[in-house]
Amino acid sequence: MKAARRNITHVVEDALCTGCGVCENACSTSAIRLGYERGLIVPRVDASLCTTCGVCDRVCPGHSVQTEELAGKLFAGIDADVELGRVAAAYSGHCRDEETRRRGATGGMVTGLLRWLLNSGQIDGAIVVRFQADSPLEPEAFIARSEEELGTARSSKYSPVSLGGVLRAVLRTPGKYAVVGLPCHLHGIRKMEQLYPEVARRLVWHLGIFCSGTRSRQATEFYLAKIGAPAGEVREFAYRDEGCLGNMRVALRNGDQWRWPYKQYYPLARSFFLPPRCALCHDQCAELADLAFGDLHIPEFWEDTTGTGCVIARSPVAKTLLANAHAAQAIVLSPLVPSLIRKSQRPMLRRKKQDVPARARLLRALGQKMPAYDAVFPRLTARDLFRAAKATAVLKVENWIGARRCLWWLIHVLGHATPPSCVSGRSVSQ
Ligand SMILES: Cc1cc2nc3c(=O)[nH]c(=O)nc-3n(C[C@H](O)[C@H](O)[C@H](O)COP(=O)(O)OP(=O)(O)OC[C@H]3O[C@@H](n4cnc5c(N)ncnc54)[C@H](O)[C@@H]3O)c2cc1C
Ligand code: SF4
Ligand code: SF4
Ligand code: SF4
Repeated sequence: MKAARRNITHVVEDALCTGCGVCENACSTSAIRLGYERGLIVPRVDASLCTTCGVCDRVCPGHSVQTEELAGKLFAGIDADVELGRVAAAYSGHCRDEETRRRGATGGMVTGLLRWLLNSGQIDGAIVVRFQADSPLEPEAFIARSEEELGTARSSKYSPVSLGGVLRAVLRTPGKYAVVGLPCHLHGIRKMEQLYPEVARRLVWHLGIFCSGTRSRQATEFYLAKIGAPAGEVREFAYRDEGCLGNMRVALRNGDQWRWPYKQYYPLARSFFLPPRCALCHDQCAELADLAFGDLHIPEFWEDTTGTGCVIARSPVAKTLLANAHAAQAIVLSPLVPSLIRKSQRPMLRRKKQDVPARARLLRALGQKMPAYDAVFPRLTARDLFRAAKATAVLKVENWIGARRCLWWLIHVLGHATPPSCVSGRSVSQ
């Protein structure tokens, strides 16, 4: 019984897996294979190859992550902020190059910073995520070693993303690397670094992106169905392109193209396609990243249609890196008071810092396994618990509908979304 709990099978069985793929990278016998199950990335263990060494379980962020303890060590001397994590400095900003800025998720700061690090020889490669060339709806993590490769990874992927074999590649290949990841990716990477000092030495910069939740692969299928675009005919796809928040852009092989504004399509998916594990995640602002990047959804920036994001430096060295990138004209920065980031992330922070602990308390009482965190959450009130019970019921129903293609018409009925337009060529739905 004990041996069975030493690999990550129990994490999957307890529905605590984030699909980050760190376990697969850490397994020395290649016993772990990642695959899609109901639109989510899930690891499965081949018992015949597993030696029950327990390494995968130790690096897994799905069942537990000590964010406070780790952040305290990584960013020593910087005060903890319950909502934002450690903040040594905060800025609004964007990439200096206008094309990267316009085609990035929110100003292209991540891509601009990585390009400068690469071109100035400060790193040998960057772990980023692109759509596969021969499968344009399928995101994959890879190591970009040139400016051109970095360009293929710009903008957000609202679909499950695992770290594939990239951490194994880092272990095999000496060099200095930066890594970009969601908070859960960084939780796993930091845990892996504790066990593999070589990974810690080689990953010299950890860039995190804020995250309120990703979407299952079925969300993309739902959007394509709404457009009337056959998935097999897609030549190019982007969730966010062409300016601040921007458009979903779908191009078919026959030349048809759709543009669907983010502000119309994103709210439509609500929590129909939210992975259940995201509803238990407590980290909005990538608290274990050296530098954490996010949007600025506040009136002060609403008039900007090209793209301006925010960045938090969590240590003095990270702050110096930003200052150097600004001086080298790679990115443009302006000081930002952290309260504006809080304001911009308010609904998401409430979900992560109040709803999540309340939901965890309720579900634990019902016998469900919950991730173990050492974060200090605000005191829960009866109202928090009531709201969490209601939100959990809605989530369960919406998840149930989202997982059943035959019920997607209900999402259309509830969503009232403006249909996307076909901007060139003939619409396939005609
Ligand atoms: C699933 C998801 C949820 C998000 N939720 C929020 C939120 O609640 N609030 C908020 O302010 N911001 C959120 N963001 C982040 C935000 O939209 C921008 O990605 C961030 O501000 C960086 O913008 P940029 O223009 O500087 O990045 P760009 O220069 O466009 O570069 C984006 C980088 O992110 C990497 N990337 C994209 N998608 C993924 C992914 N799924 N997993 C790992 N790496 C990825 C790319 O490889 C690229 O390196 C979210 C992003 C994602 C992917
Ligand atoms: S317990 Fe060890 S051998 Fe088994 S899957 Fe995990 S890392 Fe691989
Ligand atoms: S390491 Fe990541 S992919 Fe593997 S079981 Fe844990 S959460 Fe899931
Ligand atoms: S909400 Fe948390 S678990 Fe879900 S994708 Fe974002 S960082 Fe990962």
